[in-house]
Amino acid sequence: MFLYKILCSGNQKYIPYLTQWENIDFKKVQAEIRKVIEVLKQLEELENPEWERLKREWATSLLIRTSDPIIMACQQCGARFIFDETNPDYYTSEGLRFPERCLNCLEKV
Ligand SMILES: [Zn+2]
Repeated sequence: MFLYKILCSGNQKYIPYLTQWENIDFKKVQAEIRKVIEVLKQLEELENPEWERLKREWATSLLIRTSDPIIMACQQCGARFIFDETNPDYYTSEGLRFPERCLNCLEKV
């Protein structure tokens, strides 16, 4: 679900996060993450029908990736924290928003 949302957003700003995530949790999702990164990079060259087809095709395969928590690294203190994609706070009008800092650092502000 998580990867699929990123894919549907078509937003290249997620690539750094995907790369980071790929390094942390490579065992299960590396191939899928790599695939999404490559598609995002080629997005401008993709014809729209092909893009729509890819999204439909991956709707199922990427949907099953949510059983494990996503570990993020805090940009401020470097601590690892769990990114819970089901948290509605992470969704904005632009789509999914990644937290950049852990809860501890957020509370200190
Ligand atoms: Zn922190």
